Amino acid sequence: MEGRCIACEERPAPPRVVVVGLASCFGCQLQVTNAEAHLVDVLGQIDLRYWQLASSDPMPEDFDVAVIEGAVTTEESENLVRALREKASTVVAIGACATTAGIPGMAAAGFLSRPVEVYGEGGVPAACGEMVSPRPVSAVVDVDCEVRCCPIDTMDFVDALQGVLHGSNKAPRSSTMCGDCKRNETECFFAQGRLCLGLVTQAGCGARCVNLGRPCNGCRGLSPDANLESARQACGRYGVPVEGFDRALEMFNQTNPALEDGRASR
Ligand code: SF4
Ligand code: SF4
Ligand code: SF4
Repeated sequence: MEGRCIACEERPAPPRVVVVGLASCFGCQLQVTNAEAHLVDVLGQIDLRYWQLASSDPMPEDFDVAVIEGAVTTEESENLVRALREKASTVVAIGACATTAGIPGMAAAGFLSRPVEVYGEGGVPAACGEMVSPRPVSAVVDVDCEVRCCPIDTMDFVDALQGVLHGSNKAPRSSTMCGDCKRNETECFFAQGRLCLGLVTQAGCGARCVNLGRPCNGCRGLSPDANLESARQACGRYGVPVEGFDRALEMFNQTNPALEDGRASR
């Protein structure tokens, strides 16, 4: 019998997706390309309308899902993020830069004076646009889903996109990483007098770096359950310099209100 399957004909149109990069190194967008076989599966379920890394066409007017990489560092990117939020039913922030201000956030202290040193007083807007202190996407608009780490884990992204497409009851974990580390039966760096930020960093990567023999540098950002005071006391007990702990923490948490210092205002 000629004809098409009714189920196929009634299948809703796939969600239209745009992928946009702000202040970033594009490393998280590159990670998406590493999804390889899974990417083909995912691409089969979406209508990829625009991918900044790979598109030369302008961004379309209409779409359903906006995937945003990078920190907001200019008024132009603030406006772009607001426009994306207005149009998209779902906003996904990917990578440390988009979720915590990440690497651009490291320059937050005195940020507005830095480009002046390079371009001079009058040259900044022309060279960089109207700059604002680096901030995560969630500081500008509501974000529905965050994929953390620097760079993101490819499968985390696939997982998040599947959740966006089909729904998910997975809640982001608020605990710190040490529980995962204990389950992995890895020796704690503190026992060797070495700093590891896993004790205050949001769990979810499975303590990836510690498993590879490297201390965590906190790229998932501060855990909401982190007890900074207790962590500083632990540093003292294990002979790890507290100043080093505070300095290391600034790398991915400049814009976190839990950290008192090192943040610049607009
Ligand atoms: S989170 Fe890291 S890899 Fe991703 S865009 Fe920012 S700096 Fe690059
Ligand atoms: S501080 Fe680091 S090495 Fe120690 S248990 Fe926590 S995550 Fe593991
Ligand atoms: S172990 Fe720490 S630095 Fe490494 S991926 Fe996980 S959160 Fe990031």
